[in-house]
Amino acid sequence: MNQHYPFVNPPLPYAYDALEPYIDTKTMQLHHDRHLQTYVNNLNGTLKDHPELQGWSLEELIYNTDQLPEGVRQPIRNNAGGVYNHIFYFNGMSNSPTRAQTGMLYSAIVKDFGSAQKFYDDFKSKALSVFGSGYAWLVVDRNGKLQIITSANQDNPIAQNLCPIAGIDVWEHAYYLKHYNERVAYIDDWFQVVDWERADRIYQRCIANLQA
Ligand code: MN
Repeated sequence: MNQHYPFVNPPLPYAYDALEPYIDTKTMQLHHDRHLQTYVNNLNGTLKDHPELQGWSLEELIYNTDQLPEGVRQPIRNNAGGVYNHIFYFNGMSNSPTRAQTGMLYSAIVKDFGSAQKFYDDFKSKALSVFGSGYAWLVVDRNGKLQIITSANQDNPIAQNLCPIAGIDVWEHAYYLKHYNERVAYIDDWFQVVDWERADRIYQRCIANLQA
């Protein structure tokens, strides 16, 4: 991910068809090449006239919204979030995800949710509860505890001082071509391709940053 303006759309870390049959090729092409590209273009378009913001990272743009000039606050919130969230979502999936029921994250999931099944059920019902566009996230809060939260549109947990570990885009463009209106089937399929090894690495980084 670029550190600052001009932002670029990084290629997917796998082929467009890598997540078949769970996430279909056409959806991945449109979602990455058109939807994410539009957020990148719009963000660069907004920052073009604001040299004072061109050194800011995506995280800084998302975290410090109140320091942004009022006229560009909302477009930056939408588009910096759109870039960050989509890259995070795409990078969080893999065509060879590990199912290892080990690692620090797995232990924390069992500790904070009761069991892996309970976590799965909670996450699914939260992801189903998002009305319209948005995301469901597994995050670490300031006390190091795991939480499942949702966000509207392209808002991101880091704006609320939460550290995202895994996230699913539940806007219909993420699944409509294959799953039609069946968000629940899409969530089940997403769980088949989540890269939990990566999530575990991110979790450990979130915890380390809290202790730093
Ligand atoms: Mn999307």
